Amino acid sequence: MKILLVEDSATIRYAMCSYINAAGHNPIVAESGEEALQILENTPVDMIIMDVEMPGLNGFETTRLIREALGEHWIPIIFVTGKDEDTSVEEGIAAGGDDYLVKPISQVILNAKIRAMERITGMRNELSELNKELTVLSQRDGLTGLFNRRTFEEKAQEIWDMSARSKQPLTIILLDIDHFKLYNDCYGHPAGDECIQKVSAALSKSLSRPGDIVARYGGEEFIAILPNTPEYGARHVTEVIRSCVEGMAIKHRASKSGVVVTISIGAIVVNYAGETNIDLQIEEADKCLYESKQKGRNCCTVREYNAKTKILFVGDCDESYSLLEENFAPQYTMISTSHGDECSALAEEYHPNLIILDLSLEDMNAKDVCRELKENPSTSFMPVILIGDASMEALKQATSDLNANACLQKPLETIPLMAKVKKFV
Ligand code: GH3
Ligand code: MG
Ligand code: MG
Ligand code: MG
Repeated sequence: MKILLVEDSATIRYAMCSYINAAGHNPIVAESGEEALQILENTPVDMIIMDVEMPGLNGFETTRLIREALGEHWIPIIFVTGKDEDTSVEEGIAAGGDDYLVKPISQVILNAKIRAMERITGMRNELSELNKELTVLSQRDGLTGLFNRRTFEEKAQEIWDMSARSKQPLTIILLDIDHFKLYNDCYGHPAGDECIQKVSAALSKSLSRPGDIVARYGGEEFIAILPNTPEYGARHVTEVIRSCVEGMAIKHRASKSGVVVTISIGAIVVNYAGETNIDLQIEEADKCLYESKQKGRNCCTVREYNAKTKILFVGDCDESYSLLEENFAPQYTMISTSHGDECSALAEEYHPNLIILDLSLEDMNAKDVCRELKENPSTSFMPVILIGDASMEALKQATSDLNANACLQKPLETIPLMAKVKKFV
């Protein structure tokens, strides 16, 4: 054991070190409370023997600071003092000490105390290991070893929040064994349990990315959340799971939808987690699952969550913007800026379904803004309607030169505006 000896007197330090060595342990020496704290910052020790009377921080003060710094991590601290009044003992224990020795120290007593503390440390370590195991067990479902529903809810919320921050798509998958009641009726409950275990193993095997969370959600129903998974990924992975379960060829002679055990899957892909919430989207995934059941089971239904349609207006003409707001808010989300140089960043952040760009923008050449949008692969697909005061001919020429998608002459009017916008959203 590494034992930190904190003692200001050189004579006592010398004697104690030789006792500790003789007991078969390794002393590390600190001449003051301050030095002890410094040593503990980067040297882990198994036990501390602490003088009480020291200049600067005394033993009690040092102990309080050590306990604060170590937090949950417990190591025994034995005080050594010249005083043996009751109040001093009491203060030492209150400060976080575990035992108390009065000078002069006998080698035999010190040895015995170290052994007793060693035993307690061993028991505490075992207890902390057991606690860790218990935590793991309490997160798991007994039959399948998958996470249970409660743990899923905690972990899924973390993934959700992360996706909302990083604006990465995530997928929620719900799946349910087909005609499982009939399976139980036909083969018995223990066979049913075994079937649930096999399906859960297939599920874990199919979802092997480290960030994926899979859980048993209810009787024969499972749930998974997959970070960074867009629609094509969701389609791929749900089909992998479905065919993996079917491929196990577990006989199900009572099934009404085949001769082996199959599952139905519902999945929802959420592109902007920040614009909705997890409970709503689990409900959406459940609707998809229901659809798969209706379609005849043993199939997958994947849908994307569509946030409100967003229109980005880039321009400094108040009349145009008012007309847009009048016609499109609040059923569409309106985003606007009069600074051309903000356009690209806003488009990348909000993924608008349509951009309306005023060519007579004052602060910057609107044509450059449009070129920038159309050259950036993450915004080039967004439709752009150019508006301006120029002749219709000039506007059409600009639309074609800039790869924009349509144009409108100012002042805008409701009917042509609605007709153009509806083409794109
Ligand atoms: P569907 O294709 O529409 O999903 O039909 P189903 O029979 O699977 O649907 P239902 O939800 O009615 O039945 C689920 C059955 O799963 C009922 C229940 O007895 C059984 N079940 C739930 N939990 C367990 C379990 O832990 N072990 C076993 N063996 N059976 C279970
Ligand atoms: Mg002293
Ligand atoms: Mg069910
Ligand atoms: Mg079922």
